[in-house]
Amino acid sequence: MSETIEHQHDHTHVEPGKVGEPADHSHAVTTVAPHLHGHGGHQAFHIARPQPGIAVDLKGVCAGYFGRDVLDEVSFSVHTGEFVGVIGPNGSGKTTLLNVIAGLHDPQCGSVTVFGSPPPPDRRRIGYVPQIESVNWAFPVTVFDVVLMGRYGRLGLFKRPSDEDRALAMKALNEVGMTAQADSQIGQLSGGQQQRVFVARALVQEPDLMLLDEPIAGVDATSQHAIFTLLEERQRRGMTIIATTHDLSCVATWFDKVLYLNHRVIAYGTPEETLNDETLSATFGSHVLVIPEAHQHSAR
Ligand code: ADP
Repeated sequence: MSETIEHQHDHTHVEPGKVGEPADHSHAVTTVAPHLHGHGGHQAFHIARPQPGIAVDLKGVCAGYFGRDVLDEVSFSVHTGEFVGVIGPNGSGKTTLLNVIAGLHDPQCGSVTVFGSPPPPDRRRIGYVPQIESVNWAFPVTVFDVVLMGRYGRLGLFKRPSDEDRALAMKALNEVGMTAQADSQIGQLSGGQQQRVFVARALVQEPDLMLLDEPIAGVDATSQHAIFTLLEERQRRGMTIIATTHDLSCVATWFDKVLYLNHRVIAYGTPEETLNDETLSATFGSHVLVIPEAHQHSAR
């Protein structure tokens, strides 16, 4: 009989604005929520548009590789329509966290729900923009085709993209300012251009939740602004967004809430509540002393 075993520890949610207590590593985390493993098709995922409420909810999530914990009892929730930034140094577990939310990496303990169900929910509902370094650019494919691939999740098996799918792909390319490169090979573009194309691909999918892994790493200031403006516009229409970054400069400007991650949750809350020396030192180490144009929301 399958039964969810509650973890012995208190998976207290980190209250907005609070800096988390140092993690207690003295315990061995062995408990597994069985429903998180083997997505055996037994879940009945509803595909209704999300109602205002919780889009993503993690409780006491531990995850890692080859027995090594990378995420340590991570708990937080994201409301529908929020734009949440996940900030932390390299290797702090940001990508792993996105993969857990996307259902691409199973946690060892704790629970994850996305729109009320364990991931993966209906894949069409999640748009994922990977780190551009993780993509094989030798693959011979045009910019337009990369974006059109975003529609494939919405097509039935073996169904060809329609004129409408093509028009939507072109519209998305236009939105990210990449129409002129539609016929270029994806591998020939600059990092910023590639990033824009991947954002367009995720947008044509019309997801309810968008996960972006370092969307502005190696991207020039113009592309950064273009990407975030576009995301903010979709957010106003109800899309929930979680973006990782190690760039502090965008925190106060774009994010509703910020999750400070260094294997465990250091703090979670609005930039006004959380962006301070204490949180940054706990996240990045004490060498981070300067808060960039800090607490005020700058003009976009
Ligand atoms: P971040 O996105 O914050 O840089 P990651 O989640 O990518 O952090 O990685 C966290 C840690 O997990 C790093 O030490 C990394 O080397 C390790 N790691 C990530 N992916 C794998 C993997 N597929 N196999 C083994 N270790 C991994």
